[in-house]
Amino acid sequence: MQRDAAKPKKSEKNINVEKRENPMSLSLDVSAKIYPVNRYLELYSRSLEEPEKFWEEQARELDWFKSWDKVLEWNTPFAKWFVGGRINACYNALDRHLKSWRKNKAALIWEGEPGERRVLTYHDLYREANRFADALLRLGVKTGDRVGIYMPLIPELPISMLAASRIGATFTVVFSGFSSGALADRLNDAEAKVLITADGGYRRGRIVNLKENADKALASCPTVEHVVVYRRTGHSVPFKEGRDIWWDDIVKDSRKYVEPVSVESNHPLYILYTSGTTGKPKGVVHSTGGYLVYVSATQKWVFDVRDEDVYWCTADIGWVTGHSYVVYGPFLNGVTTVMYEGALDYPNPGRWWEIVERYGVTILYTTPTALRTLIKYGDEYPKKYDLSSLRLLGTVGEPINPAAWEWYFNVVGGGRCPIVDTWWQTETGGILISPAPRLGLVPLKPGSATYPLPTIMADVYDEKGRPAPSMTRGYLVIKNPWPGMLQTLFKDPQRYQQVYWSRFEGVYYTGDYAMKDEEGYFWLLGRADEVLKVAGHRLGTIELEDALVSHQAVAEAAVVGRPDAVKGEVIVVFATLRQGYSPSPQLAQELREHVRRVIGPIATPEEIHFVHMLPKTRSGKIMRRVIKAVASQAEIGDITTLEDEASVEEVKKAIETLRAGMA
Ligand code: ATP
Ligand code: MG
Repeated sequence: MQRDAAKPKKSEKNINVEKRENPMSLSLDVSAKIYPVNRYLELYSRSLEEPEKFWEEQARELDWFKSWDKVLEWNTPFAKWFVGGRINACYNALDRHLKSWRKNKAALIWEGEPGERRVLTYHDLYREANRFADALLRLGVKTGDRVGIYMPLIPELPISMLAASRIGATFTVVFSGFSSGALADRLNDAEAKVLITADGGYRRGRIVNLKENADKALASCPTVEHVVVYRRTGHSVPFKEGRDIWWDDIVKDSRKYVEPVSVESNHPLYILYTSGTTGKPKGVVHSTGGYLVYVSATQKWVFDVRDEDVYWCTADIGWVTGHSYVVYGPFLNGVTTVMYEGALDYPNPGRWWEIVERYGVTILYTTPTALRTLIKYGDEYPKKYDLSSLRLLGTVGEPINPAAWEWYFNVVGGGRCPIVDTWWQTETGGILISPAPRLGLVPLKPGSATYPLPTIMADVYDEKGRPAPSMTRGYLVIKNPWPGMLQTLFKDPQRYQQVYWSRFEGVYYTGDYAMKDEEGYFWLLGRADEVLKVAGHRLGTIELEDALVSHQAVAEAAVVGRPDAVKGEVIVVFATLRQGYSPSPQLAQELREHVRRVIGPIATPEEIHFVHMLPKTRSGKIMRRVIKAVASQAEIGDITTLEDEASVEEVKKAIETLRAGMA
């Protein structure tokens, strides 16, 4: 079963859908040897019978200062989990392990882009978090205040998050690739009292001037009273007396122990602004108790983490994946985590594989877009390193196309490692649909995130809110509350209600296309707002891109629509090629025919442009808005809105390559 085998909707009937062979039936045997197959579905149906009881049992795995009075208070669409329970996030991530042998276990293995290495044990992190918590207290931060964090991927970033949560402050991490404008918007919306930043960070061998960006932002952030600056690069930066203070200077007088503040379970742990690939950023608010219970459980089920593991989630902590599966999920479970500061191909495309070999990484969690970038460089890099320590692989962020899946499985995983394709969103707090090896791995199908996790009632609806027949594309919805779900949008409960709970009565609207196959597997089909209308037919960009990437010459493809007087829209393709292939009119023709074969004549691309890079957000998502503007020859004069998503420089460069590709 392949994604492009989707049964056409009425209006798409004349699209010729061709089934591709499942390239990976092999993986099913492989997984079956490691994990018991099909035990999962039984457990899943049992979890639906008494979901609250189910979550109550999970919650008991954490340390609560006071137990809850009620598991769930559900006033659609506002959920409160473990009401009346009292808990502290930092205590559960760190203090708890000090009572066990894990005290001196490596919690964090960090590698800087220039090559420095640091190992911090749970005890080390505990000491640092306590000292920094005291620093925050001395700067006047109180329980409930917001603390902004704008840092490179260094240990002081999780330490800041843990310290803030220790004193009950709500943190908001702003991705260090964001510009000053994006930072100012977020600090202002959150009304942050303190900002934690660094002089700079490293990216592709160059220094990113974080302090300079922060200064620019702070010119319009009246709520920020103090700025703590960690010395990462050591280059000279402007300093504002009275407002700015060096990290080292403030922690040197710190107390060694700060009592963790016991907060009510529904106290907001953090606010995270969504990446904004679909408009004005939304301040997603997450709770403490429910969120921690959810990420702790899903970390265990999906990644099957064990004490001997070396786990590496490559996400930046500026994104939700970093919050849930670099910081809280692993630390709550006492796992050893790898963290790497820099670019994946710096100083060469073997960097990631070198890291896997050096630390003996056993579990690797990354994105399809990173994989496609690495595929482009060829197999020689992964083949140069010993990757035999790997036992489980994961992906997140986009649908994974079968070609990338296959490469991940064979070249990276050596045909040994199951791949967990995890579907979730900033709003969901943690993974909702994914294989869960710990609970019993189901046979994998490349490109499918398989089944919902326990208690999660996911479904696919048609336009009218009726369950869509199997093999038919519809909208992914979640029909019941779960502990990791967002509480609201910060200061905007109406928008929360309108965006997520008004499309269909009483269910959570994800904004994603999906379909279920005959066995109930979920296939994610991209965003519902990313469709082209060609001569009256609706075509998902993801389906088209999948078809292109299934050709051996194509590494990555972005498909956009260009307005056309006759057809409504025509299909414009921007593609990057794998090593060993070069652009030619013959290749373009071959791709056209390939797409016709896979999807149908209606999907024939009007233009194909070969380029060296595609503009992406730093979390790796293709910025179709930019590509569309280029394809439509629109002026991209005002770049400020783009600054939300990536560095201006990267976007400019990508626009130039796109334009060059069109020339
Ligand atoms: P914004 O909401 O501001 O546009 P975003 O949606 O890109 O930003 P995230 O919350 O990081 O920000 O991304 C969640 C989205 O990523 C999902 O809605 C889905 O479209 C996509 N996604 C995540 N995981 C998967 C997956 N395993 N398969 C398919 N799509 C996925
Ligand atoms: Mg989203």
